[in-house]
Amino acid sequence: MQAVSDIMSLRTATKDLRNTGASLALVPTMGALHDGHLALVEQAKRRADHVAVSIFVNPTQFGEGEDLDAYPRQLARDKALLEEAGAALLWVPDVQTMYPAGFQTVISTPQAAQGLCGAKRPGHFDGVATVVCKLLNQVDPDIALFGEKDYQQLAVIKSMVRDLDMDVTIEGVPTIREADGLAMSSRNAYLSVEQRQSAVTLPNAMKVAIAEIQTGGKVDQALATLQHALEQAGFHQCDYAELRVANSLAVPDFDMLKGGTELRLLVAAHIGKTRLIDNMPLLWPTI
Ligand code: AMP
Repeated sequence: MQAVSDIMSLRTATKDLRNTGASLALVPTMGALHDGHLALVEQAKRRADHVAVSIFVNPTQFGEGEDLDAYPRQLARDKALLEEAGAALLWVPDVQTMYPAGFQTVISTPQAAQGLCGAKRPGHFDGVATVVCKLLNQVDPDIALFGEKDYQQLAVIKSMVRDLDMDVTIEGVPTIREADGLAMSSRNAYLSVEQRQSAVTLPNAMKVAIAEIQTGGKVDQALATLQHALEQAGFHQCDYAELRVANSLAVPDFDMLKGGTELRLLVAAHIGKTRLIDNMPLLWPTI
């Protein structure tokens, strides 16, 4: 695997990889890699001849008081994992390369970024859309893969690519979980042993809420029970626990919903200093 950190070397490397007409996939990450990231690389290998991975902890998607400085950075370990996973190219730019003096362009997707994480993290999705646009322009892949773990992020990126006629396929990959069901995340490393044990309440309570709703239970009640379970487990703040229409993230009108409509339950909650997010699919019941 070749690792490059300046634009000229990147262009030479992608040109070399493509010179026989081979296809290229990109997996953008912020590093501190785990099996969720590696699942994206695996899927990317099935989709293209070569896989490029980017590692960049993007400052513009962190808000004030968020964990930019504390965010885990472990490049040597990440490189070894990517080498073993069969990535061909690692793009690892520094902040100066991504945001040189005078940088001013911002990409905004106000509808997709509305509510959910967008409401709690102002500017976050502008930072995400802008950096992903840059990474796509820099690497110029045929396909880019993103985790459903960050479901609203995936919606933001799909909107951007559609609206700006970007010539790349965006593919979502289902969430990879720990054995007990907690969604894998680089931020799980912040959890104490005790918090880690309590954190599993998040996916468990979501599954209970989904079962309740799918058997005709009231949505408000199921979501209130979910939030109560989180509180009981030691989560001190729930930013949101919402049902949205899966493909548009629109707020559903439950009185008008057709049975079989694909929905998504999305939750963000804080335990200790860590903010965890998760989402799961469900079908609106036919009753
Ligand atoms: P991050 O390094 O957290 O920015 O994530 C990089 C990519 O990996 C994003 O597309 C995430 O959605 C994806 N990702 C993170 N965690 C998981 C997971 N548990 N399962 C699948 N994809 C994930």
